[in-house]
Amino acid sequence: MYNKLTVEDVEVKGKKVLVRCDFNVPLDSDGNITDENRIVGALPTIKYLMDNGAKVILCSHMGKPKGEPKPELSLKPVAKSLSEKLGKEVVFAADDNVVGDNAKATVAAMNDGDVVLLENTRYRKEETKNEESFSKELASLADLFVNDAFGTAHRAHCSNVGVSSIIKPAVAGYLIEKEINFLGNAVNSPVRPLVAILGGSKVSSKISVIENLLKKVDKLIIGGGMAYTFFAAQGKTTGTSLLEPDFIDYAKKMLQEAGDKIVLPVDTVITEKFDNDAPSKVVEGNIPDGCMGLDIGPKSIALFKDVLKDAKTVVWNGPMGVFEMSNFAKGTNEIASMLADLDATTIIGGGDSVAAVNQAGLGDKMSHISTGGGASMEFLEGKELPGIAALTDK
Ligand code: ADP
Ligand code: MG
Repeated sequence: MYNKLTVEDVEVKGKKVLVRCDFNVPLDSDGNITDENRIVGALPTIKYLMDNGAKVILCSHMGKPKGEPKPELSLKPVAKSLSEKLGKEVVFAADDNVVGDNAKATVAAMNDGDVVLLENTRYRKEETKNEESFSKELASLADLFVNDAFGTAHRAHCSNVGVSSIIKPAVAGYLIEKEINFLGNAVNSPVRPLVAILGGSKVSSKISVIENLLKKVDKLIIGGGMAYTFFAAQGKTTGTSLLEPDFIDYAKKMLQEAGDKIVLPVDTVITEKFDNDAPSKVVEGNIPDGCMGLDIGPKSIALFKDVLKDAKTVVWNGPMGVFEMSNFAKGTNEIASMLADLDATTIIGGGDSVAAVNQAGLGDKMSHISTGGGASMEFLEGKELPGIAALTDK
């Protein structure tokens, strides 16, 4: 992985190893975990460390407790889930101070191969400000630091960046390594043709992604709500569709610079009301007054599939329509099933896009589903992620 040390580059036997995971999982009102993907994603690194005789001290944030203990955001349910998946008890170090007396005593009692989970790091107000005091406390528990929290890599907090500057070496875990390899190769040394598909609601939130990807891709497909600002740039009417008037000039500029690299929808599923049961129809070109586009039409699906059929690498960020409503999910689902069958490296980034692919039951047919929405976006923007930059160079 680039030039960063990974967990396999260092001796871990008998060492106390602090591992920053991304256990920021969704809970229902009874405190049950509703999606365990991130826990599953963390297992390879934890297993490797256990099997190689480390004392494994896990930490993570969950939700936004805003710097104080919030029992409903305790990581305790994660310890239970991890224990089941690892077939070994993961001891939960309940501690409102995260690194208080109980956490210290629990760590002191560890044997090689044991696993302890600390409490939610965001119980401490220093965490999100990357204040040295809490970084030092975390670092005092361990001899070695492993960062495996890709979902937080775009943030500079105590538990990823702060500790990396105190505990040396600070190395990457398998999940971070995998994320960086897939996303990095796709963007920086792709097997071509490389096609990116961008969608979702806003052009404004993805400007840097558009600009960075345009430099790298062979084709850029644009669908979803952000397409209508490009329609407007082409002089088409957009009715009541999502539109960002302040970005029409920007879209014009992109279209001029990119030439036929940008592929836009040629037809649209429109309706008068933002409602799954509202009557809908397909129009080509202009969207009439009083109507909004909520999905790409059949000719666009065919056009996009034609662009995708020869691709060897595909990066997808942002759904093609309002996939949350079944009657407007077709464009997103059709593109997802095309990618599932494609003989290419397929990479899905972005929270809603990942949800859409999983909703279609096609998650395991993709080469890589990123566990980090925001982090994968910043990666596609070409930014350096602080959580990764802080790791020790090879
Ligand atoms: P991601 O999380 O994958 O990066 P975004 O957050 O940018 O994606 O966008 C996802 C949202 O965009 C979804 O909630 C979806 O309903 C919405 N969306 C997609 N197409 C349209 C459209 N035509 N009109 C309104 N909203 C849309
Ligand atoms: Mg989103």
